[in-house]
Amino acid sequence: MTVLAIGGLVHETVTFLPEETNLAAFEHRASRGAEIATTFAGSNTVYGGFLSVARDNDVTVEGLICAECAPSGPVSKAAFQALSDELVSRATLWRDEADGLLLHLHGAMVARGDHDPELTLLLRLRKVLGPDYPIAVAMDLHGNVGAEKALLADIVCGFRRSPHTDMAETGARAASLLLRKLAGEITPVAAVARPGLVLPSIFTATEDSPLKEIMEEVREAAKQPGILDVTLFLGFAYADVPEIGATVLAIADGDKALAIRVVERLSARLVEAREALYTAAPIYDPDTALDKAAELLAEGVRPIVLLEHADRGNDSTHLLQTMLDRSTQTGGFPRTAVPYLHDRIAATAAASTGLKGQLMTTLGGKSSEMAGYPVLFSGFIKYTGNLRYAITGPYRTGEIIDLGLSAVIDNGTIAVIVTSHSAAAVDTDPFTQTGLDIDEFDIIALRSKTHFRAAYEPIAGAILIVETPDWGPADLIGLPYRNVPPGVFPITMGPPDDGIIDGLDDV
Ligand SMILES: [Zn+2]
Repeated sequence: MTVLAIGGLVHETVTFLPEETNLAAFEHRASRGAEIATTFAGSNTVYGGFLSVARDNDVTVEGLICAECAPSGPVSKAAFQALSDELVSRATLWRDEADGLLLHLHGAMVARGDHDPELTLLLRLRKVLGPDYPIAVAMDLHGNVGAEKALLADIVCGFRRSPHTDMAETGARAASLLLRKLAGEITPVAAVARPGLVLPSIFTATEDSPLKEIMEEVREAAKQPGILDVTLFLGFAYADVPEIGATVLAIADGDKALAIRVVERLSARLVEAREALYTAAPIYDPDTALDKAAELLAEGVRPIVLLEHADRGNDSTHLLQTMLDRSTQTGGFPRTAVPYLHDRIAATAAASTGLKGQLMTTLGGKSSEMAGYPVLFSGFIKYTGNLRYAITGPYRTGEIIDLGLSAVIDNGTIAVIVTSHSAAAVDTDPFTQTGLDIDEFDIIALRSKTHFRAAYEPIAGAILIVETPDWGPADLIGLPYRNVPPGVFPITMGPPDDGIIDGLDDV
């Protein structure tokens, strides 16, 4: 009987955000031991994929620890230490019983004082488990995956879709390859190429051209004889680390030269497309977007989804303030929903005001000074309660989300759903869970980057991308990067061997 250990430590770190991510944020969504199987079985998550392969192959799973939290600032030293210590000690405990380890990492985690804590974790695991212990890792498409991190495990598979509707599928790819390796059927050998570019998250929607065609080539490459798996990591632009940027990773069955040919070809393809990838969709400022929305609504196009995509703390107020200003200046502002604005204080104030009561409060603008000023908002409480439910949308289907004390505050024109835990609204659950009728709204203001597309593309009349001055802009040039090496498009355009050319001049 085969036994596999399952664990994970997942965080997409925005290094520019000032507030550290502490242990409590991870503990809110942590599960351990047997709890992991009950939490994730049947869900469209990486762990759900691991578990389905285990079930189909009569594999016994041993849960270590799975911890995750919403994208936020650098992980505190203490939090990373505690979580990685626990994962490593649980893996050590199961080393002799388990035949291999299935791990879920994001690929873009940064801890205070450690720009690549996932590499640190993998090095520790290798040290205690041994150089030959079978390890498979499933990672996010938005990982900044340097060669060393990519090659420390036997198998690394990444998501190929954004919205990440293939999380379970990716977990299943990694688990299936690990089982085939354990059975002696395959000899995975990997190669890595780094094309020297990073995309803003807003341009990583894999159903939009030209990325759509490139992703099709990645899937085709994975099917060719001798190749076991191919991933294109697009990188995460808001982690200022030396490893920033895209990575192509191919795993071949024993044939390293074949893996190298595949990654070199796909990497060259990406370099060739980099300008087009970087200008994949029109971007509007808030006023222009609202003018455009008004035009479309007048033509009967509705609902209009506005995307305040630069918001990395789910509490930006730039767009909300513009909408409020315009609704007070002009009569007849469209009926607007703002699902999931992170503001624990406002949610608590709404709860103590009570259902149907009237509340004047400030909203949002707390994650950093770039999130905009807190907005003064007055409205009636349409919902208040603890928002905890199983996700019904196509992204993370079946996973339990717990937003804590939450409320709908509605001024008759704009209805804002405030939450105590940070989450981006990506499907229609925020409406059904709080008793709002989505059909009532002309404008829906979201903060997602790509994940909303799975649920909203079928129902939106139009999607308008709004650029605001927060930490996740489409234009990366203005961000205060300090650790990005030369040769990463579009941040540092200089060739990496400038110095060598200078040296030649001296000769
Ligand atoms: Zn991602």
